[in-house]
Amino acid sequence: MTVIRDAFYIGGEWVAPSTAEVLEVTSSGTGELYATVPAGTAEDAARAVAAAAAAFPAWSVTSPKERGEFLQRVSEKLAERADDLAVTIAHEVGMPLMLAKGIQVGLPTMNFADQAQRIQEYVWEEEIGNSVVVREPVGVVVAITPWNYPLHQIALKVAPALAAGCTVVLKPSEVAPINAFALADIFHELGLPKGVFNLVTGVGPVVGEALAGDPRVDMVSFTGSTRAGKRVMHLAADGVKRVALELGGKSANVILEDADVAKAVADGVFKCFLNSGQTCSALTRMVVPRSRLAEVEEIAVATAEGFAPGDPISGSSLLGPLVSATQLERVRGYIRRGVDEGARLLCGGVEPVEGLGGGYYVAPTVFTDVRNDMTIAQEEIFGPVLSIIPYDSEDEALEIANDSAYGLAGGVWAGTDERAFEFARKIRAGQIEINGGAFNVLAPFGGYKQSGVGREVGTFGLEEFLEVKAIQRP
Ligand code: NDP
Repeated sequence: MTVIRDAFYIGGEWVAPSTAEVLEVTSSGTGELYATVPAGTAEDAARAVAAAAAAFPAWSVTSPKERGEFLQRVSEKLAERADDLAVTIAHEVGMPLMLAKGIQVGLPTMNFADQAQRIQEYVWEEEIGNSVVVREPVGVVVAITPWNYPLHQIALKVAPALAAGCTVVLKPSEVAPINAFALADIFHELGLPKGVFNLVTGVGPVVGEALAGDPRVDMVSFTGSTRAGKRVMHLAADGVKRVALELGGKSANVILEDADVAKAVADGVFKCFLNSGQTCSALTRMVVPRSRLAEVEEIAVATAEGFAPGDPISGSSLLGPLVSATQLERVRGYIRRGVDEGARLLCGGVEPVEGLGGGYYVAPTVFTDVRNDMTIAQEEIFGPVLSIIPYDSEDEALEIANDSAYGLAGGVWAGTDERAFEFARKIRAGQIEINGGAFNVLAPFGGYKQSGVGREVGTFGLEEFLEVKAIQRP
């Protein structure tokens, strides 16, 4: 049965869109129609901004206690609905259900609770000489989010923005918007004051651009492609708006000569293929000593074979489909390019995966003998495609790791943690794991270079949404 959402959440009510046009959402595992949402216009965007601007004066002066209690209740509601939300996101994005519940729903649930607690302990005022330095909400925030971890990326913006005392207009991805409607349902049920949170859907070049350029907006927080992020930054520049950008990545996983290669390669393959490679911080470049290349290739192929794609809803595989037909074509295009530019395909490729119907599946793909100047080593593919890049010296390994327009994440494996740590210091990226160090859900997340501006998560994430005012006493 198709899920139909035919209204926007603006000013505390579900309101009719300005046109009857809709956007179709497909189920990634089958290619069938899953849902429809309204295709908003600039007029809808303007209504949502007006509601957020009207709500700001009252919400901005509520106490952290009041806002924290609200955010805590949001977290509890998300936890209550985790099963349904996981199914929704498994359809929209294609992440296997068993992973989707913990990651796609678990992370946002935790994030709302974390911000609720964090603002109780946060130091909102401090004295510096004769000044009282106070932190205040930045104002009306536009959040524009992508499809790959849709609810998580919404939570990383909406939770700290509301915690800070800002009001929000959210424009989620047209590819995975239903989870955003579920969040709006929760806000409505909990009685969030009118206009504090508003939701409009539509395509980026129409609704996203109208929101980013609206003079009543104080800040745009964007996650998605570097291409669209640059456009948003240009639009926001006219109003000198604050901009936070979480963009793409092409992260290097450097395995040093004395590392436990078996462990490093198996872990690295998983971290490249998670969510079918549709992860901005995916470790997509495996940089390995040439002397151990044959061994690395063998382990990588054996590990990749354990990732046979399966249906995200009913299957037991760790690898689902890609999100959409567009992404499928895009990823196949990159695989062809890799072959054309001389990389050696070890497994996977562009052939359709048999027996899985109309979903957007790509077999786990491993390239070796990749040079860092090849397209597959420089551009974000967003598919289950690993590039193994050999090096001859550690200096060269570092050069390869940093030779990228991006700087979002990375990994280092070495014989000792100390050695890996020292190498990690030299990589120009915002998040580095050493010897398989686990993802820290409370650590600041964001990129160097063209991977973005600003940090999300925790106190760093909260402070993105705060202004600083110094009041001088006589
Ligand atoms: P986009 O950057 O196109 O989409 C992200 C969000 O921005 C969506 O809500 C989108 O709207 C909106 N948007 C698009 N164009 C504009 C614009 N001109 N002005 C304002 N908002 C805009 O990414 P895609 O979803 O198309 O994915 C393409 C590639 O981006 C991926 O293959 C990947 O390389 C990268 N990406 C990176 C992510 C990350 O976390 N770093 C996340 C997602 C993608 P709409 O609803 O129309 O898509």
